[in-house]
Amino acid sequence: MDLGLPPPEAYLDHAASTPTRPEVVEAMLPWLTEHFGNPSGSHARARAARRAVDEAREPVAELLGCAPGEVVFTSGGTEADDLAINGVLDAVGGRAVCSAIEHHAVLDPVLHRGGATVAVDAVGVVDLDDLSRQLVNTDEAPVSLVSVMAANNEVGTIQPLDAVAAVVARHAPDAVLHTDAVQAAAWCDLRQLASAAALVSLSGHKIGGPKGVGALAVRPGVAVAARLRGGGQERGRRSGTHNVAGIVGLGVAADLVLTHRDATAARMTSLRDELESVVTSVPGVVATVGRDGAARPSRLPTICHVCVQGVSSEALLFLLDDAGIAASAASSCASGATEASHVLAAMGVTSEQARGSLRFSLGWTSDEVVVERVAAALPDAVARLRLLDVPSRAGER
Ligand code: PLP
Repeated sequence: MDLGLPPPEAYLDHAASTPTRPEVVEAMLPWLTEHFGNPSGSHARARAARRAVDEAREPVAELLGCAPGEVVFTSGGTEADDLAINGVLDAVGGRAVCSAIEHHAVLDPVLHRGGATVAVDAVGVVDLDDLSRQLVNTDEAPVSLVSVMAANNEVGTIQPLDAVAAVVARHAPDAVLHTDAVQAAAWCDLRQLASAAALVSLSGHKIGGPKGVGALAVRPGVAVAARLRGGGQERGRRSGTHNVAGIVGLGVAADLVLTHRDATAARMTSLRDELESVVTSVPGVVATVGRDGAARPSRLPTICHVCVQGVSSEALLFLLDDAGIAASAASSCASGATEASHVLAAMGVTSEQARGSLRFSLGWTSDEVVVERVAAALPDAVARLRLLDVPSRAGER
């Protein structure tokens, strides 16, 4: 008997936010209830909270590949990026450049401060020749900060940060390299991938931790002016009473990533490959990274990004949502609407292809069931929309 219940959710939007690990919630709870002390105080309760914050610093530092004293806790990835970019520009002046496919948390502050973007190729890898050109451009103020993300949130491309650092060292030896590792942190060993970066950003809710907490690794000797001044927490680098429960949760999440990452990443890679083969078997659906036969770069094991010909992603997401499948298109903005993707445009994806862009992103709770659910729902949803879409597209011409 059909009870009219909604189908169980097939969650394929882990890159937007992944479920908080139960161990994280359990570790956080006491710091939201009986252990309410302010870590900046001096009595026993305050000291206990301070100890909890400092203990969390260790796994977070290990994940970021830095020393515990180099970790600055923030309110998330956006604030970590803001502190890196504006903090360096405020401290040393000059100009920032970033890759053209950065998250808005990097792109917007860089452009707001008069910076520029560096081109990427068709698979989303930063163009080192364009970076060199920008660094030697003497018409503008010298570049003091270069920001290139460790892995992209829409298409999953992993950047060759060592090569980026070598170009920076050659043409702008005084410039600081920042990397937004918000998406990479759950899947890549940042001790290797991000070792050449002087500043590394992290966010809790992308690694199984809570929302509203993150961190910036600041390597010794890097001048970063505080953005928030006040009580002088985080050695004066970020004032504001610590989010103790959030920081404890971030520490536990970092620890769990360090323990399970390799095994989970291997499981995700085969699941993603299976999902990609199911999705691209639908006629007119192509994997975005590697379309036109371009060689595929290193990429996150969790992202399957495709362009669906002849449909609009908004309509497709609506039908998938109706079938209990949570996916996304371009990065979502605060209103929940999708906006045209600057990432796809920078990769040379045409606006007609980008119109049908779709991102499925896997995470630690994903299993075979999500692939089966997509296999059952996607072909029909695409076919229905194509039938509807013909007159509207004809009308556009
Ligand atoms: N950077 C990247 C690459 C992201 O994917 C996100 C979130 O989607 C952010 C930064 C922002 O992080 P937060 O949501 O913690 O502010």
